[in-house]
Amino acid sequence: MNYYSLNRQSPPVDFRAATIAGQAPDGGLYFPETIPQFSAEFLQALPHLSRADVAYAVMQPYVGDTIPEAELRRICAETVDFEFPLVPVAERIGALELFHGPTLAFKDVGARFMSRCLGYFSGGEAQAVTVLVATSGDTGGAVAHGFLGVPGVEVVILYPSGKVSPLQELQLTTLGQNITALEVAGNFDDCQRLVKQAFTDEGLTSRRTLTSANSINVARWLPQQLYYLFALQQWRGVGLPVVAVPSGNFGNLCAGLLAHASGLPVGHFVAACNANDAGADYLRSGVFAPKAAVATISNAMDVGHPSNFVRILELFKHEHATISQLLSGYTVSDADTGATIRRVAAEYDYLLDPHGAVAFFALETYLREHPAAAGFLLATAHPVKFPEVVEPLIGRKVELPAALHYLLGKPKQSVPLPPRYEALREWLLK
Ligand SMILES: *Cc1c(COP(=O)(O)O)cnc(C)c1O
Repeated sequence: MNYYSLNRQSPPVDFRAATIAGQAPDGGLYFPETIPQFSAEFLQALPHLSRADVAYAVMQPYVGDTIPEAELRRICAETVDFEFPLVPVAERIGALELFHGPTLAFKDVGARFMSRCLGYFSGGEAQAVTVLVATSGDTGGAVAHGFLGVPGVEVVILYPSGKVSPLQELQLTTLGQNITALEVAGNFDDCQRLVKQAFTDEGLTSRRTLTSANSINVARWLPQQLYYLFALQQWRGVGLPVVAVPSGNFGNLCAGLLAHASGLPVGHFVAACNANDAGADYLRSGVFAPKAAVATISNAMDVGHPSNFVRILELFKHEHATISQLLSGYTVSDADTGATIRRVAAEYDYLLDPHGAVAFFALETYLREHPAAAGFLLATAHPVKFPEVVEPLIGRKVELPAALHYLLGKPKQSVPLPPRYEALREWLLK
């Protein structure tokens, strides 16, 4: 399988080169040259296959011969080594819980797959690869955990001091091994600026191999298809499910649409957006116009210019009529998101996080217009990650899952860094 750049000014590359580069040299996103098709036998056997076997079957055509079978099977098995339960919530609504991984958010799957691929690809190199990443909270944790203990890879995370939640900070700063957290005396934009400058500093990159763990990387994007297959393994509803996806950068939703293009039986997709709704606007109007991002209570979706949207347009050859037959977009306000968390907790005894709540509200709206349909939402994060939003709404504390209790006693280890590039450069070269 080769990947071409959506800007069409760079040559096609294989999975290895696309994973190492992240983005094409012309600045475009990589896109697969062909869409593999699931066989009828595979779809029939799906409910009985192990998650590891599903993951291998889906990912193998995308990886091609860049990773040998035994190695790719190990990578796939490790990537999906936790539960993805589809839980009934309301009469026609289920929640696919994607928060049982090590950092309690769905980004774990892409980060685990990518880190292991990169670890394999850098195995023969004399010099360790350094993954340099700026985080406002969730991405850094998923990337750090994904790369923890991967030989030949060092991870350096920049996070804004005092601006991530206490749980997120523990997830970033207590790992040790090949992970270092730089605690920047500044905000997220400072962290991002320092990282960007490092990638363009040839004096630095000639002495230390730097890679980004950017979310547009094909090795993070493509394995997100697996959520939809794991859901279909568990789907017992009548007819094909309606799937609601809380969307920010639209990588997750685009992966679902790709799985559908490969033959996965899904009835309809719902793009659930907060006030950052350039994608939903396109679905309603046919015009895609990025906006300035605004802050909401579902802050992992505060993206004004969703970078994966071009992949959706490519998948459907830019035909708005075809896209809107399969996909509807909804905009959900903070007020409706909060009210949904409170109401679903009270009526159904089910606790949503703010992102899942956006999707629940959008799915309910769609199902009201389609009384014969049923479906599920993607619950992308555990509510305990957003206590400042959730706890006042439900009037009680959210319990930390037992699997995370170990974090609480661990000492924080971070390196303080002033928000100046020279300081980062000096630290990286020491
Ligand atoms: C990243 C994220 C999203 C948005 O996913 P995209 O693939 O960027 O659309 C939704 N919910 C949570 C919790 C996230 O961390």
